[in-house]
Amino acid sequence: MQLTDKFGRKISYLRLAVTDRCNLRCQYCMPAQGINIVERKELLTYKEMYRITRVLSELGVNKVRLTGGEPFVRKKFINLLESLAFNDKLDEINITTNGALISKHIEKLEELKIKSINLSIDSLHKEKFAQITRRDVFENVFDTFKLLAKSNLNLKLNVVVQSGFNTDEIIDFVELSKNKNIAVRFIEEMPFNGKGQREMNEEWNYTKIINHIQNHYPEINPLQSKKSSTSKNFKIPNYKGTFGIIPAFTRTICNDCNRIRITATGMFKNCLFDGGVFNVRDFIRNGASDNDLKELFISTVHNKPENGFVAEANRDNNVSESMSTIGG
Ligand code: SAM
Ligand code: SF4
Repeated sequence: MQLTDKFGRKISYLRLAVTDRCNLRCQYCMPAQGINIVERKELLTYKEMYRITRVLSELGVNKVRLTGGEPFVRKKFINLLESLAFNDKLDEINITTNGALISKHIEKLEELKIKSINLSIDSLHKEKFAQITRRDVFENVFDTFKLLAKSNLNLKLNVVVQSGFNTDEIIDFVELSKNKNIAVRFIEEMPFNGKGQREMNEEWNYTKIINHIQNHYPEINPLQSKKSSTSKNFKIPNYKGTFGIIPAFTRTICNDCNRIRITATGMFKNCLFDGGVFNVRDFIRNGASDNDLKELFISTVHNKPENGFVAEANRDNNVSESMSTIGG
């Protein structure tokens, strides 16, 4: 059985937010005082996460990304990874993290065969990094970066391109791929910041980012990526790693979307831009069986909106929630 929507897209990838809490306060993600976090009992338990993932894996989901909030902020996060690793229907378990708390877990992540780590790092300068994240943890994150680059884990860097703030570092980030087999990915900034507005002087969209990089290098080769890839990827001749751009805001990748999301409070989302379709946590806590869950997943996925613009237009409210509550 394979979850499929009415446009024939096969859904095989779950992004699961482990928590809405975070140890950082990135400017583009949340206000300085943080977001209104929910009470602990409203968060999905690890058992519920395991069950949801198992049921979805029986419907063809073979890849899970754990995100948040910051997944490593939640107590015993490694226990969740251990239990998910038992599910042999999952080909890939991946994690998105800000990296500040993970250096001591890297060996364990290798042991558990975590496939890839997306490490968020938006500046290579300590002061600027502190301004963006409103926390003084650059050294921890950079140490994590170095350890991960040496580990067996696939490493992708997530760099949110912020107009007038870190655009002068785009080339420095591309240069990190010269001697390291890593994938540096530039993400268009989205309005998921707790306010709903993108405050920028100049829009740094996909085209502007690629033109900027092209002006710097005599040759850039586009790479053939998986159809469902969220990024358009490139390689500079003789560089060990690659770079890519994620058109998160201009949404030119929706045609081949294979993703669904579940937030830390159990809200099922067919699309990053929809307002949430139903709450799986409540359904489970009201006694739903695995078959009830399957039926609900099948009918909900069938109605996945064609793209992020349609999803956004169908919302009751404007896009304004923090990425930390959605699970980026
Ligand atoms: N705390 C973890 C981290 O930062 O990697 C995981 C959660 S975070 C919400 C997931 C990803 O979403 C990060 O790479 C972050 O940079 C990105 N993100 C957050 N807010 C964003 C926004 N408004 N626009 C674009 N990307 C954003
Ligand atoms: Fe936390 Fe990640 Fe949001 Fe930054 S982007 S505030 S690290 S959840």
